[in-house]
Amino acid sequence: MPKPERLYIYPWESYTENNCNSYFIDGPVKTLIDPGHAHLLHHLEARMAQDGFSLEDVHLALATHPHPDHCEGLLKLKELGALIAMHEEALAFLKSFSAQWEYMTGRKVPDFPVDFFVKEGRLTLDSEVFGVLETPGHAPGSICFYWEKEGVLFSGDVVFVQSVGRVDLPGGNAALLARSIAKLMSLDVQLLCPGHGPTLEGRGDVKENFYLIRQYFFGPQA
Ligand SMILES: [Zn+2]
Repeated sequence: MPKPERLYIYPWESYTENNCNSYFIDGPVKTLIDPGHAHLLHHLEARMAQDGFSLEDVHLALATHPHPDHCEGLLKLKELGALIAMHEEALAFLKSFSAQWEYMTGRKVPDFPVDFFVKEGRLTLDSEVFGVLETPGHAPGSICFYWEKEGVLFSGDVVFVQSVGRVDLPGGNAALLARSIAKLMSLDVQLLCPGHGPTLEGRGDVKENFYLIRQYFFGPQA
């Protein structure tokens, strides 16, 4: 099963500025996962334009977790008419994350006018259904989206290719992260779409990646 045609992958490849990968699904509800930093949104806008899309086309913008390099751009998407959503704990966490946020962005934590909260279970967007997995450890309110029909996992900063999310930021918790990774390992994933770095295609390679990172970071008993 190759990459779904309706999935557009916008990796962040700059080595001088930190930002996340963004993913756009051209479905009946046009969905953007992790718009990234507000001041870097024009990069995403330019990349989407090459594929014939604009930010105004986005119906729904989701954040995998409440770090500014993933969620700050939601505010602009909201201004442009999209609905925006994250996990309830992610929004609550932002209030206690203000010092770190200011350090990372040079600005105060904004109020996110979230349209709805995403929680463990299913997110049905017209004819498309996404599994939602609560996966704390890297950040409170961290969620992963599993597009089961296409075998795609959007893993945010929980799991990367050959690495896992850091747990040293406020709200980080290594034990919770290990549990979250174990939860993701049970999924049948053909394409791993992490929040940073390369994607990984192929069931065998994705499975191997899960075993490798779990053993390497948490030991054989994890
Ligand atoms: Zn993060």
